[in-house]
Amino acid sequence: MTTDKFWSTMAKRAEPYVPGLQLNNPDIIKLNTNENAYPPSPKVIEAIKDAASKDLQLYPSPTADRLKESIANHYSLSNDQVFVGNGSDEVLAFSFMAFFEPGETIKYPNITYSFYPVYAKLFDIPFEEVPLNDDLTIEPESLFQSDGGVIFPNPNAPTSLYMPLASVEAVIQANENKVVIVDEAYVDFAEASAASLVNKYKNLLVIKTTSKSRALAGLRVGYALGDQSLIKALIRMKDSFNSYTIDRLALAGATASFEDKDYFNQTTEKIVATRERATKQLEAIRFDVLPSATNFLFIRHDTENAAELYEKLLEKNILVRYFDVPLVNNYLRVTVGTNEQMDELVHKLKEIIE
Ligand SMILES: *Cc1c(COP(=O)(O)O)cnc(C)c1O
Repeated sequence: MTTDKFWSTMAKRAEPYVPGLQLNNPDIIKLNTNENAYPPSPKVIEAIKDAASKDLQLYPSPTADRLKESIANHYSLSNDQVFVGNGSDEVLAFSFMAFFEPGETIKYPNITYSFYPVYAKLFDIPFEEVPLNDDLTIEPESLFQSDGGVIFPNPNAPTSLYMPLASVEAVIQANENKVVIVDEAYVDFAEASAASLVNKYKNLLVIKTTSKSRALAGLRVGYALGDQSLIKALIRMKDSFNSYTIDRLALAGATASFEDKDYFNQTTEKIVATRERATKQLEAIRFDVLPSATNFLFIRHDTENAAELYEKLLEKNILVRYFDVPLVNNYLRVTVGTNEQMDELVHKLKEIIE
């Protein structure tokens, strides 16, 4: 604590994000950080091996054009409507710098991804945390007419709930002079992406990641879709910070992922099927399961205490996530694993409850 006389005010002000535990115990069923239940496509592994076998002595492309093109094709957009970064967390950080202003209050939901207040505090951006509805959905009107801009995940985390596209569009329209950032980390497990609105609204930035639906959390590739002028601002941030945020292996692997559509569709469908199956299993043992549009479930038992369930599951080698924050402190967030993993979870929960 004596070193802090050397810290800048920014370093002192920082309140860093605390990620979910990454335990390296192979006996643990890890359902706490919403990683994919399946490994990435074999074509991704092949592409990474191939990239590793040549030219690593050379810097990667600073513009990542090849990867941008695969992403642009996937969403029927052009390259200059795509930004790529080292995980969507980095893209989010650049977005706070590029579009939000100290002195202008931004809005986001009071129960949401806990990285938003971290960035807001770091960059000195005032924020208003608007309350969710009683059913834990985001009230679109609560995000209207923001002074400084808006950010929210859709589907929201950790609630797993999806806001229909018509409501997302209403939020964008009601903030026409400010940027609305929709963090779609989980949207591939939901009904529809706001990517289809990018050509229509100059103030919309859609941020996505390959970490969840593309099983590439270990590779660190996130991206943003938006109007050319927003993308240009993000590139200005990146190039003022680090020219090469995505390495050669990540460029190759992420590009291969966007080109293997079959594998992506198959694994996504399997996870959605397991999600629906696990929802019924959990409801049968008296859990209230919010209708998830993600690869995780937000659940609450009608008699058992969530913090105790979390501890007892960990004793039985199942790791889930518990947030000790008001309003949701009796819920557990459980990643959707394989059918076998979810059977094991339900089995252990039955033992604990009985
Ligand atoms: C997982 C997650 C991210 C971060 O994804 P990375 O690309 O792995 O940095 C961003 N937003 C939300 C809501 C998430 O759940």
